[in-house]
Amino acid sequence: MGGSVARASGTRPGPGRNGVLHDMEQTRLAVEMIGLGARLQVLEAEVSLPRVRLVRLYKELCGVSPPKGMLPFSTDWFLTWRPNAHASMLLAAYRFMVRAGHLSGIRATLSGFRMYREHLCVTNEAAQLSFTRAWMLVRFYERGMLQLARCQGCHGEFVVHAHDARQRYTCGLCLPPARAGKGRKPGPAGERVLAGA
Ligand SMILES: [Zn+2]
Repeated sequence: MGGSVARASGTRPGPGRNGVLHDMEQTRLAVEMIGLGARLQVLEAEVSLPRVRLVRLYKELCGVSPPKGMLPFSTDWFLTWRPNAHASMLLAAYRFMVRAGHLSGIRATLSGFRMYREHLCVTNEAAQLSFTRAWMLVRFYERGMLQLARCQGCHGEFVVHAHDARQRYTCGLCLPPARAGKGRKPGPAGERVLAGA
C-alpha cells in the first residue's frame, strides 16, 4: 500500500522519516496505542521510533515496565465461541474503516478497535478482544490465515480458518455449543464451534 510519505524532496512538505514532525507523529501514534493497551511488540512493529524510546514512553504512561513474553500467536483462540463473535465484529469494523473510511494499516486497526469498543459500550458487554488481540486478528486476516464466511442462518459474516471456509457454514450464534454461556469465559482449550461434525 502507498508508502510515499517518506519522499525526501517531494513537492509537499511532508514529514520526512527523520524530521521533527515525523517524530511527533510517531510519538502520538505510540501514545494512542499504549493508551489502548498495546504491547511493546505491537508498538515496535507499527511505530518507527527506537525501542528504548518506546519503552520509556510505555513506562511513563503506564507507570510500569512493558510486560515480557510472547504475543498470543495462535489463530485458534479467535475460533472459540465467544471470542469468535467479537472477532467477527472487530473485523467488520476494520473492513468498514478500510472501505468507507479509506484508512489502511494501523490507522484502520485503531479506528476499527474504537468502533468495536463503542459498540460494546452500547450493548454493555465486556470486551473479549484487547487491542493486541485485535491487532493480531487483523494480521492473521490480512495474511490470509483467517477469513470471513457468511452464515447460512443469519447471513452475518464470521471469522473462520482459511482452510475451514465452506459453502454451508453456520455461525456459533445460530448454532451455539451446549456449554456456551455457562462458563464465565471459554477456556484455553476452547469450544471448537466450527469443527462441525
Ligand atoms: Zn448465524
